[in-house]
Amino acid sequence: MKFASFKINESETYGVVEQGLLIDLVGLMKDIKCDLSFPNELLQGIEEGEEFIDRVLQILRKAGEKVKEHSYEESMITWLSPVPNVKRNIICVGKNYRDHAIEMGSEKEIPKDIMIFTKATNTVVGHQQTVFHHEELTQELDYEGELAVVIGKKGKCIPPEKALDFIFGYTIVNDITARDLQKKHSQFFIGKSLDTTCPMGPVVVTKDEIDDPHSLNITTRINTEIRQQSNTREMIFTIPYIISTLSKGMTLEAGDIIATGTPAGVGKGFSPPRFLKKGDIVEVSIESVGVLTNQLQA
Ligand code: MG
Repeated sequence: MKFASFKINESETYGVVEQGLLIDLVGLMKDIKCDLSFPNELLQGIEEGEEFIDRVLQILRKAGEKVKEHSYEESMITWLSPVPNVKRNIICVGKNYRDHAIEMGSEKEIPKDIMIFTKATNTVVGHQQTVFHHEELTQELDYEGELAVVIGKKGKCIPPEKALDFIFGYTIVNDITARDLQKKHSQFFIGKSLDTTCPMGPVVVTKDEIDDPHSLNITTRINTEIRQQSNTREMIFTIPYIISTLSKGMTLEAGDIIATGTPAGVGKGFSPPRFLKKGDIVEVSIESVGVLTNQLQA
């Protein structure tokens, strides 16, 4: 199942995407006057986990023909990030693809243990929302297409073999980075946290739809030119390892987002570097997950 958050006529809602149509679950629930309790935002649904998914299936079945009245073409809605109000910072894995680690420096740059930083919550925007270029602050705005995990259940000390039980689904993140600020300030936080620099979505695909998250093609295009092309099997640290390591001493919460790192081909990796310019269109596509497109402010 594919879940999305979106706006119709200026009201925020969420629903499922089926055959290219967005079904407004909040509107549908009000209309059918169902006695099942139902969350008003997707984050609450994610917190309820598999029971929520079962309930959505029941509702769609029960609603029958009514579903059509609450189905919208993409052109009628405004996409939001699937989780518009993330509860805490986006957790990001750095240098998790060997070829990217090398393009950022040398063989010595390949991490021996997992490297983690975060992006502030103010960075999150949805599919097709504008990304600010912050030209007064940075001349080196860069893109990083990444597979992201959405945590579905609170957990601590999660062993790798149980990690899947704690995943709700997968989405796409573009970890946009101001390279000059990343370098200038000794931690990454400022360079990774400018407003609108975490496009996310368009949807969260539930884990049952992805047989193996480590065999997905991932491609980033800038104005249709392919810059990054890889497969998630190239990750140095796997998703179960990442979840297990993070949760050793830190409780993971439902709704946490973990971006799993980017492959080679970022702007900084070119000689000379090819950073983002005003009006550029950045498109990150991941097999079975979707295509996330954002334009830089013109
Ligand atoms: Mg990244």
